[in-house]
Amino acid sequence: MERVASKDEARRAAAEARAEGKTIALVPTMGALHEGHLSLVRAACERADYVVVSVFVNPTQFGPGEDFETYPRDLDADLQLLAAEGVDLVFAPSAAVMYAPDASVTVDPGSLASRWEGEIRPGHFVGVATVVTKLLSIVRPDLAYFGEKDYQQLQVVRALVRDLDLGVGVVGRPIVRDRDGLALSSRNARLSPSQRQAALAIPAALEAAAQALAWGEREARALERAMFERLAGVDDLSLDYAVVVDPDTLEPLEQVESGARVLVAARIGDIHLIDNCGLEPPATPVPEGATTRE
Ligand code: AMP
Repeated sequence: MERVASKDEARRAAAEARAEGKTIALVPTMGALHEGHLSLVRAACERADYVVVSVFVNPTQFGPGEDFETYPRDLDADLQLLAAEGVDLVFAPSAAVMYAPDASVTVDPGSLASRWEGEIRPGHFVGVATVVTKLLSIVRPDLAYFGEKDYQQLQVVRALVRDLDLGVGVVGRPIVRDRDGLALSSRNARLSPSQRQAALAIPAALEAAAQALAWGEREARALERAMFERLAGVDDLSLDYAVVVDPDTLEPLEQVESGARVLVAARIGDIHLIDNCGLEPPATPVPEGATTRE
């Protein structure tokens, strides 16, 4: 496995692989790698001949007062994990390498970025869209892998690639969870044991929404109420949003349709956590007045 820190070296290594006729996959990450990241890496290794992983805590996607400084970092451990997966190239630049001091052009992430994470983290998706565009133009992969864990980010990246004709296949991969149901996240490392317990209310709220749906509820507001009830009164948890949205436009739905997405974001102390799941209404709604007996 080759490790490079400059854009030129990364560009050259990827160009060599391309000249050899290899299919190239890119997995962008901010490091502090866990099984969620590794699931993307494994999927990339299965499909592509040459796998590039970027490890870069991108300062421009953190707002003032957010956790850029305290974001977990452990490049040595990351390199060991990536070598064991058979990754070909790790691109781990510094912020000074990624952004020239006089850089002023950014990428407007469009309408999908205005709500939810975009609203509570102003500028976040401009930072994401800009760094993803830069990484894609340095590596020029055939495929780029992203997790559904960051569902809005995945949709923003899909729109970015489509609208700017970037010519890369975007592959979305399912959320990897811990045994207790919490979605894996580098930020989980910052949770105290009691905060981690509180954080379990987030997947439990998704479960409450799915349960309400399974019992025949079709009103999005009712599913959202089921989530609010599950999240209310949880110590140290402050809810940002819990919504049922169209999976493509991310606009709120009135009625739950097949493929609808539930998005949840909350802060546990100062730790921002997000989660989501897809919804499938059961084929036959439970008739009114039905009971579970017999
Ligand atoms: P990050 O390092 O948090 O920027 O994440 C890098 C990539 O890994 C993004 O595409 C994330 O969506 C994805 N990812 C992070 N956590 C998970 C998870 N638990 N399951 C699947 N993908 C994940």
